[in-house]
Amino acid sequence: MTDLHADIIIVGGGPAGIVAGLDLMSRGIDVLVLEAGADLATDLRASTLHAPTLDYLDMLGIGKELDRMGLRAPEYRFINRRTGACIAFDLSELADMSAHPYRLQCEQWKLTGAGARRLGDRLRLGHRVTGATDAADAVTVHVATDAGDIDLRARYVIACDGANSVLRRALGVAFDGFTYEEKFLCLSTEAPLERDLPGICNVNYMADPDEWLVLLRAPTAWRVLVPASIDAPDAELLSDARKDGVFAGLLGRPAAITTLHRTIYRVHQRVAQRYVVGRIILAGDAAHLNNPLGGFGMNAALHDIRNLADKLAAILRGVGDAAALLGRYERQRRTVMQEFIQAQSIRNKRAMEMSKEDGLDSMESELRLAASDPARRRDYLLRQSMYRSVAREQEIA
Ligand SMILES: Cc1cc2nc3c(=O)[nH]c(=O)nc-3n(C[C@H](O)[C@H](O)[C@H](O)COP(=O)(O)OP(=O)(O)OC[C@H]3O[C@@H](n4cnc5c(N)ncnc54)[C@H](O)[C@@H]3O)c2cc1C
Repeated sequence: MTDLHADIIIVGGGPAGIVAGLDLMSRGIDVLVLEAGADLATDLRASTLHAPTLDYLDMLGIGKELDRMGLRAPEYRFINRRTGACIAFDLSELADMSAHPYRLQCEQWKLTGAGARRLGDRLRLGHRVTGATDAADAVTVHVATDAGDIDLRARYVIACDGANSVLRRALGVAFDGFTYEEKFLCLSTEAPLERDLPGICNVNYMADPDEWLVLLRAPTAWRVLVPASIDAPDAELLSDARKDGVFAGLLGRPAAITTLHRTIYRVHQRVAQRYVVGRIILAGDAAHLNNPLGGFGMNAALHDIRNLADKLAAILRGVGDAAALLGRYERQRRTVMQEFIQAQSIRNKRAMEMSKEDGLDSMESELRLAASDPARRRDYLLRQSMYRSVAREQEIA
């Protein structure tokens, strides 16, 4: 195979693709990361890195830089917006498990930017993949560039091309699950909201049957996430009137808050039926999507890569059977995605929105019990920090 352009081609320069490139490159593997955009995305997306992800990013030599750019958030609070009742959890209790017993609030574009600087010319911007042909011993990736169409060959391809993955569609892999019948509105502001809200910390999940709200502090701004009716026109959701309503509800008084961003998006719970088709492997949002309650999306994408990079490195070294190793990647990551990440993110959303009749009280009682009992609290912290999913993955043959 002398005509290969790389051992592994990675499609997509989001968190999954950039970290895949970094990890494999650090093992001496020749990689190419192809990104459709002329630049990496810098829009408002994920901003939470959990402890096991930070352990991994440290191992890749990028942890300290992210730590400098992020905000450590050991504590998070579950607040009942109706009663003001507050249940606090403290990730510092996991100090025996991790050098990072906290969430690092750090915008995803900082991670991809830091990774891109390390990848250098192994990252190709303006390379939009249009399809791939999988032959017996290599994959040919078809790419559209400003200079014309080109073909690039590699032994394996990792499809990290996001929710609308071209490669997942080209392979005909079903993306089973559902889309929530509502919109999500995300607002960000540099206003010092903490001055009006002494009961908050840097990560706050505020439950309410009418309008739950997530209030997260990222280094550059506070982020507010609320649900909205599917029938509400986007122009209405993005209006000043809506923005003023959200902040008045949060602060308990009218306030002229200036926003940096206002974004509307739809949220899905979906898992690809297969993660591996021949020499093409799905990872990150191309393989799974979940709601943002708990901050699992980007972390799960990076946990896919950690798992997959070990197996691809072994395959390229000629250690172990390729089909068996990739089959194990699919079983481990797909099972954990369904059993843990889908289930927990759905549960976290229900905890935010249940009405009293539906059991907000019982959910609150459950959280209160978890907070007050040391064994339950540890279990809860291990689940929310994703250590439980990492441990479960290792149990799967
Ligand atoms: C609006 C929004 C808000 C979000 N908020 C949160 C949040 O608050 N918390 C959370 O945990 N998660 C959130 N997420 C999800 C989180 O951003 C993703 O889980 C994470 O980005 C997954 O990384 P990824 O690399 O798999 O995919 P992506 O980040 O989507 O990256 C895919 C990359 O592939 C590129 N690409 C696509 N098609 C091609 C092609 N054909 N050829 C070459 N390149 C291609 C894209 O340009 C993109 O750069 C949000 C997502 C969105 C869209």
